[in-house]
Amino acid sequence: MTLVERIERVREQIEAACARAGRSSSTVTLIAVSKTHPPELILRAIDAGLQHFGENRVEEAEAKIPAVAASAGSSPVWHMIGHVQSRKAKRVIDLFATVHSVDSVKLASKFSQLAEERGTTLDIFLEMNVSGEASKHGFAAAGWETDVQVREALWKQVSEVLALPCLNVRGLMTMAPIVADPEEARPVFASLAGLRAALSEMSGAALPDLSMGMTDDFPVAIEEGATLIRVGRAIFGERET
Ligand SMILES: *Cc1c(COP(=O)(O)O)cnc(C)c1O
Repeated sequence: MTLVERIERVREQIEAACARAGRSSSTVTLIAVSKTHPPELILRAIDAGLQHFGENRVEEAEAKIPAVAASAGSSPVWHMIGHVQSRKAKRVIDLFATVHSVDSVKLASKFSQLAEERGTTLDIFLEMNVSGEASKHGFAAAGWETDVQVREALWKQVSEVLALPCLNVRGLMTMAPIVADPEEARPVFASLAGLRAALSEMSGAALPDLSMGMTDDFPVAIEEGATLIRVGRAIFGERET
């Protein structure tokens, strides 16, 4: 399949999942995850109509984002989706419009301070570790439905982030476990959607968005309420690294 055909196929799957969920496909933003791929391929994807791109490493983004900007007819929106070390936050805010992977109060404070210095507001998502896997980043959220201690710790941290002046907290992000059957990821997506609603009620903040779903599971994520999906392989093919 060509790049254009793969994008078309992903769009059809988004439409179908939205139809099953009784939602308009305009409520889902497709982020093309371009990590490991060269600027030339990203430019072709822009020509094919994609406007949102995701990268997970700041070093790689520093080489690619200016190269794409120099040649693209329209300027895409760049989303940081990978773990950010606080000492690299400045490099991230200089390149990205939105950060999906804010996983500590410390990192959030750093971003708010940097945004304040620049006289701007940064869009962020709070990354939640809903599955409880030790390999995953994110605020500890496994068992939040039943575990009072998890919930109290989480409510306190989220309240601290919401009190920071120069962040626009759009909502929550998660990575589902890698499973053979996407149905196995459904409870993780449903849990994140429930957590979003609970945190919104607790805080009074709208938190309108859910960033969840990748190549293997985005239709299920959409059925559970995803408003942004982060899709790499289904668009660009398998990665070499
Ligand atoms: C790589 C990556 C994706 C995309 O994964 P695919 O399986 O290629 O769709 C999504 N989110 C994050 C955080 C990633 O690192």
